[in-house]
Amino acid sequence: MTSPAEAGRGSRRAAPVGHAAMRSANLSLLLRHLHTRGGRSRATLSQETGLSKAAVTSLVNDLAVRGLVQEGKVERLGAVGRPGTEVRIDPGHVAGIGLELNVDYLAVSLRDLAGAARFADSVPTPYALEPSAADGRSYPLDPVLDRAAELLQRALDAADAEGLWVAGATIAPPGPIDYDGSRVRFASNLGWTDVPLAEELARRLGEDSPVLALENDAKLSALAEAPRLAQRGITDLVYLTGDKGVGAGIIAGGRLLRGWSGFSGEVGHIGLDPAGERCRCGRRGCWETMVGFDTVLDVLEADDPTRSGRLPMTERLARLRSLLDAGHAPLHERFERLAGDLVRGAGVLVDVLNPQAIVLGGYFASFADLLVQPVQSALDARLLAADGRVEVSASALGLDAAAAGGAAVALERVLDDPLLAPELEA
Ligand SMILES: [Zn+2]
Repeated sequence: MTSPAEAGRGSRRAAPVGHAAMRSANLSLLLRHLHTRGGRSRATLSQETGLSKAAVTSLVNDLAVRGLVQEGKVERLGAVGRPGTEVRIDPGHVAGIGLELNVDYLAVSLRDLAGAARFADSVPTPYALEPSAADGRSYPLDPVLDRAAELLQRALDAADAEGLWVAGATIAPPGPIDYDGSRVRFASNLGWTDVPLAEELARRLGEDSPVLALENDAKLSALAEAPRLAQRGITDLVYLTGDKGVGAGIIAGGRLLRGWSGFSGEVGHIGLDPAGERCRCGRRGCWETMVGFDTVLDVLEADDPTRSGRLPMTERLARLRSLLDAGHAPLHERFERLAGDLVRGAGVLVDVLNPQAIVLGGYFASFADLLVQPVQSALDARLLAADGRVEVSASALGLDAAAAGGAAVALERVLDDPLLAPELEA
């Protein structure tokens, strides 16, 4: 991700550079090439990057010393010519961490440089019962941050046990963030305003703290999901994450759309019904009053344990599924309406953004069998032009999407500057 500070560093690169900076830029070029295109021989790397064979050999050695690449199987280039040994990303030494702070759960993900999940964990978000709050709950800062720091520490311990150096951690709070100060501007569903999140977590972790950065949950989820769709040529997508509210991560032309001040995708408060339910934001008929997770739970009995935020999210979703399987009529009826309510907002986004794909994430993904087809059919039926068709699918990453995207973004630091990775001990 590019913060204004990083953009500043980038602009320095555009000036004439010395040998060291040139070397760092070429190391990054080579590492990124292997990261996105997969393992290949030195000869192929030379052809594809325009670097000389001698330079590739020397750079590969530098990357190998830092545990970033390794020798792999032999690549055969047709029937003639010498086979080359494949160079590929080494998954064994460098990792990134993502942490999602959600109203219902905190989730952490540790991923290695090859993108494989090495550790994942989640816990319910601690809250206090408070009759004064609109829905009886509040999320006092300290217990939530303590729990988040514990989860980060578990991921750091897991990395340590596997001999992985952590390039950084990306934290995903459910709301817009301040790129300069690593603060959450506001997270309306947690009731937080202007929280110095990175600083607070770094203080709790002490000297163990990796470099911490913030990015919005829906944006990270979109980034995590984008490579799967890019394989099929999809470069324009809207990722909808369903939790207490609904947020969108927008990828346009292959790039994350942040908006002027990072507020893009705050779609939960699109007004769809002036006579609708009162929203937390004070207005009526916002999209999230129709599709938020709580609106589904509202059809259950008041004492149904599924409604309790003290149960792990995975367990609550499993309980909903078993109620559906048992033929719970009000719940089935609610999901039918939910598909229609999703289309009301998604239709607006389709008209404004013209995406190729809409990905249903968060809790929506757990009920793909009930939502994807009806949403697809309804969007098809309101098409203005045949080539404006949008493909609806469910997130393959589900509740892990934001944390997985966070780990991937943290690894970008080392892809940008491979010299950050420490040399392996001989
Ligand atoms: Zn609202």
